[in-house]
Formats: sequence, C-alpha cells, structure tokens
Amino acid sequence: MAVKVINDQCIGCSACVGTCPFGAIVEDGKAVITETCTACGACVDVCPVGAIIREAEEKTVAIDKSQYKGVWVYVEQVDGHIRSVAHELIGEGRKLADAMGQELAGVLIGDNVENLAKDIFASGADKVYLVEGQEFKHYSTDAYTITLTDLINTYHPSVILMGATNDGRDLGPRVACRVGTGLTADCTNLGIDEATGLVAWTRPAFGGNIMATILCPEHRPQMGTVRPKVFKRPEQDFSRSGEIIRVSSKVKPEDIRTKLLEVIKVCTASCNLEEAEIIVSGGRGMCKPENFTLIEELATVLGGAVGASRAAVDAGWKPAIHQVGQTGKTVGPKIYFACGISGAIQHLAGMSSSDIVIAINKDPDAPIFKVADYGIVGDVLEVIPALIEEFKKIKT
Ligand code: FAD
Ligand code: SF4
Repeated sequence: MAVKVINDQCIGCSACVGTCPFGAIVEDGKAVITETCTACGACVDVCPVGAIIREAEEKTVAIDKSQYKGVWVYVEQVDGHIRSVAHELIGEGRKLADAMGQELAGVLIGDNVENLAKDIFASGADKVYLVEGQEFKHYSTDAYTITLTDLINTYHPSVILMGATNDGRDLGPRVACRVGTGLTADCTNLGIDEATGLVAWTRPAFGGNIMATILCPEHRPQMGTVRPKVFKRPEQDFSRSGEIIRVSSKVKPEDIRTKLLEVIKVCTASCNLEEAEIIVSGGRGMCKPENFTLIEELATVLGGAVGASRAAVDAGWKPAIHQVGQTGKTVGPKIYFACGISGAIQHLAGMSSSDIVIAINKDPDAPIFKVADYGIVGDVLEVIPALIEEFKKIKT
C-alpha cells in the first residue's frame, strides 16, 4: 500500500497535517507525504475533498516456492550461551521438518561460537549455518539483520522459527520485511495445515479471546516467533552430529549504525523468569509494595525467580520485566507459587504450563485454585513467612 496526494484535487487546507501519527505530512502549498509515512491510512478520510488516497501496490511477482526447502531455527546466543528457547524451537522444528520430509538447520551467528554447534545437533538439528566474526560479539540490529537476510537469500529455507525474545522480536520483523515475507509473532502452537502442507502458526488474538491460525501461502520463507517456554526443551542426544556450513560475514563496519558503549545488567537471577525452575509470584493480594520482600525472600530461599501479576506491576510494586501472563512473560518452571493472585485468564496464559502450581489465596473460590496442584487458603502475610521458615530449616 502507498498513500498519495492527488495534487490537482488538494486545496492546501492542512486538515490532514495534524492527523498523521507519524508526522509524515507537511504543508507546502499542497499536502506532501514524506518518507516517514507508514501507509497506515489515518489521513485518508480526513481530507474534505478526497485528495488523499491509499493505493494497493501491484501484487508482487509470484515466487517459485519449490526453491525453498528446509526448516531453520535461529539459535540465539548471548555471551556464548544458547538461550533455552532456541533448544525448545529445535525440538519443535524437528517435528515440523519430519512432517514435511525436510532437513532441520540451526542458524548460529556470533563471535567464536562454533563450539555450540554440537549442542544444536544434540537437540535435533541436521545442519548448522555458522557465521562468525567480532562484529557479532554483541547483538546488533544491523549486523544480524544483514547476515540473516543474506543467508535466507542464499539458501532459501522454507520455514524459520525464532524466539520471541527482545532480540528475536527486533530481528524477525526486519528480516521478514527485507526478504518480502510475513511473520506471525508470539505463536503459542505450531502444526502443519493438512490441506496445504503449510505451517499453521497459532497465536492469541483479540485480547486472548480467540486463537487465530495463520498460514503464509504466497511468500517464503514462512516465518514466526514463539515465546520462550511455550514448548518443552527436547532431551538432548550427544551422539548425534551434523554438517557445519561456514558462511563468511558480509557485514562492513559502516553497516553498523549503533555503537555499544557499555552493557549494564539490570536483570539478576531473580528476574530470569524464562530459565527459572522455581518462580514465586505475587499479586494484588500482597496488599502493598513492602510486602513483596516476602516474595523475594521465599524466592531466594528456594533459589528461584520473582514473578508478578499485571495488577502488581501496574501498581508499581515490581518492574514490568517480572510480569507473567499474556502481556508479560510465558514461563514454565517446575514449581510456580501464585501468592495473592486471583488467576485471571490473562495471568494463566503465561504460567499454565508450569509443572506444579502452588496457590496461596484467602478466597477459597479464587479461580487460581482450579489450576493449582496444591492450594493454601490463608493470608499471604501469615502463610509466606511460615513457608520461608520451614524451607530455611530444610536447607540447613
Ligand atoms: P486480583 O485479581 O485483584 O486478585 C488478587 C487476589 O488476591 C484475590 O484473589 C484475593 O482473594 C487475593 N488476596 C487479597 N488479599 C489477600 C491476602 N492477604 N492473602 C491472600 N490472598 C489475598 N494479568 C497478568 O497477571 N498478566 C498479564 O500478562 C495480563 N495481561 C492482560 C492483558 C489484557 C489485554 C487484559 C485485559 C488484562 C491482562 N491482565 C494480565 C490483567 C488480568 O485480567 C487481571 O486483572 C490480573 O491478573 C489480576 O491480578 P491479581 O490476580 O494480582 O489481582
Ligand atoms: Fe501519516 Fe498514515 Fe497518512 Fe502516511 S498514511 S501520511 S503515516 S496518516
């Protein structure tokens, strides 16, 4: 789509200028659409003389889809450690690749990361596309976008899975746009559409009230991001091996428009929710922010991470990086403590794949008890200190 001003019709009234959320219209006798236009169309109906139109672009030339083969998983690594979501996606990608009768490959970009290839094979990949260089020591939008785009244009994969992490959410849409395909973000399920053989990407829509299943019939590769912990990490088999395809970096220093000055780690073990085996979460039932120290203490005693409901985050009791749920993180620990959390559907969306749920709530009818394996009806301010004391005894 492109937005255009029909010059002959425009009367230069400026009515459209203030309506553009991107400040993309300037008035120079007549309305002029600048390059910051996203083609959202917000201005079209505002023009009193119908001088702004949104034109459909020519349909892109159909691509030869038979050229696109193989399932790829973007293997995100940070400081030489593969993120757990990449293993989860290799496990899921293996199922898709087997169903499609195709190969599964991991894409590994980094500085001195070749040693990680064996880990990728052990999780189920047949191949690793490896691109190494100092420019990949830390994630940068430009270097990684150029590299993944180049790999796709060279090797033509049919499907690409990426983690819906901060980096994955930055990289995925950019690369999809550059290679001219779409991307289904934040999927919660993957499968194969029986009628077409395409990947069926399922994700919540309309505030989680419906699940939408999306296909990508016209373009390649089929791309999507998946939240961490949606799928279980596969059992690794270190007797597996595979082929490493080394690809040279095409990134030039001038391509990287950002300069990393310093890395400041704001996230300690207590907010590493995606990797945590135990999570202690607090909600509005903690009554006031000071009481969250009980949540933190219980988490510390158990060696776990601290979670929070959106109500607790919105109240400013914990930063948003701790939020669990539909608009927060999806977690899948071995044990999840829900303390003073009612169990709203949006909260359950982020933690229901936990192995064991322990709920503490003073309301015996709270919905959280329907998903809890163990329920304690009581006041969090009495129950949590008692738990801390007992767990401390076990530890000593
Ligand atoms: P409440 O629902 O107020 O529950 C507090 C609970 O604490 C009650 O059950 C009460 O009985 C109990 N309680 C009170 N005092 C005590 C006490 N002293 N001892 C023991 N128990 C006590 N929510 C999320 O959590 N994560 C999300 O990502 C999220 N995304 C959302 C997205 C959308 C589009 C929308 C519309 C909502 C979203 N929400 C999300 C909000 C969600 O609907 C709920 O409002 C929220 O989860 C409620 O948080 P809560 O359970 O802490 O608070
Ligand atoms: Fe602005 Fe949207 Fe109109 Fe473009 S289409 S000029 S972005 S309002």
